[in-house]
Amino acid sequence: MLQSILKNSEQAFKAKIREDRASVNRLGTNLTLDEYKFIISKVLKAKSNQDFQLPSDKTLLDKYDVLELNNGAKELIVPSNETSKIIFYVHDDELYKILLDAHLHLKHGNCDEMLQYLNQSYKNITYKDVSIFLSFCQDCQDKATLDEKDLIEKYSHFNTVCQIELIDFESCEDNGYKFVMIYQELLTKFVILKPLKSYESEEVAQNLINIFGTLGPPIYLKSNKSDDFVEGIISRLKVLWPPVKIEYLKSDRWDDLIGPEIETMVRVWMTNNKKSQWSEGVRFVQLKKNTTFHSKLKKTPYEALFKHPVETLYPKMEKNGDTQEESEDFQEIEMDVKEEPVDEIENDPLELAEEALEIAKSEPESD
Ligand SMILES: [Zn+2]
Repeated sequence: MLQSILKNSEQAFKAKIREDRASVNRLGTNLTLDEYKFIISKVLKAKSNQDFQLPSDKTLLDKYDVLELNNGAKELIVPSNETSKIIFYVHDDELYKILLDAHLHLKHGNCDEMLQYLNQSYKNITYKDVSIFLSFCQDCQDKATLDEKDLIEKYSHFNTVCQIELIDFESCEDNGYKFVMIYQELLTKFVILKPLKSYESEEVAQNLINIFGTLGPPIYLKSNKSDDFVEGIISRLKVLWPPVKIEYLKSDRWDDLIGPEIETMVRVWMTNNKKSQWSEGVRFVQLKKNTTFHSKLKKTPYEALFKHPVETLYPKMEKNGDTQEESEDFQEIEMDVKEEPVDEIENDPLELAEEALEIAKSEPESD
C-alpha cells in the first residue's frame, strides 16, 4: 500500500519536475540524466588530456569531477581533496528517491531543514525541487490541513493568516536584488511581491511594515522557510513597530504555495520584455497574479479583496464577462510589452506565456 502511494507520487513528482524544467529558462543547476551522462563523458575526456588541456577543460574540471565506484558506476561530484567530504551532483531521475530519504530521515522535515541536510551531500538540489516534493507528501498536507482548517474557520476574515515565500534569484542578481518575497493573504489569496537584497530579518521586516501600512498586519504569519526565519522576523517587527501583534503559525500546509508559479511568471516577463531587470517586472507580475481567476475563490484575488474587477487598465475588459477570458487578455497586454521576436533565447516566448497561464489556471493539487 505504502509502496504504491510512494510510486504514484514519484510519477507525479517526475512529471511536475519535467514540466518545471521545460517551462523556465534554466539556470544550469538541475541536470537531466542525459545531461548528467554528457558531462561525465566530457570530464573524463578532459582528464585524459592532461598534457594538453584547453581553457574549456580547465573550466569544466574546476566545477566537476567524476568518482568511479568499485562496481564501475560513475558519479558526478564536486572536485575535492582527500580530506574534504564528497559532494554529489544529482540528476532528475534520482531526485525523488534522495528527497524522499531525506524527508523521512528528518521525520517529515520542512523545506529549510531538508535543504540544510541535503546541501551537506548534494550540490544542485534547489529550494524549488524541495517545495515541489513537499507538495506531494500527503502526510504533511493532511497534518497541516487539520491545524489550519480550525484556525481559518475560527477567524474567517481578511488578515487572519498571511504567508511568506521566497524565490531565489541569486543567479541573476538585479541591481543588488537577489530574492523575491511573496506575501500572500490566505483568505483572498491577494499577493504582494517585493524584491529583496537579502532575507535577513531586518530587510524582510522593513518590507512587511510597508505592506502592513497599506493592508494592515495579519494575526498569524506563516512560511515554508524555517522556524528561525519567521521567529526572527516577528521579533524584529516587535522592535521596529511595538504595537504590532503577530503570532507565528507553525504549519506544513503547502497548498497555497505559489513560488514556482510566480518564478515562471517573472521569467516570462523577462523573456517577453527582453529585460533582465526582474525587480521591475515583479510589479506587473503582482498585478497579473492578483487579477487572474482563482479556481478556489471562483474570482480573482483582486475582486476578493476589492469586490470589483480592475477597470482602468484595459478598455476592452468587460464587467460581466468571463473572468478567465479577461485574465488572458490582460496577460497579453501586461506580459507582452514588446512584440519583437526573441532570438537569443531558445524557449519560445509564446509557449512560455501559455505555460505560465496553464500554471496560473491549474487547480491546486491538494484536492
Ligand atoms: Zn511529509
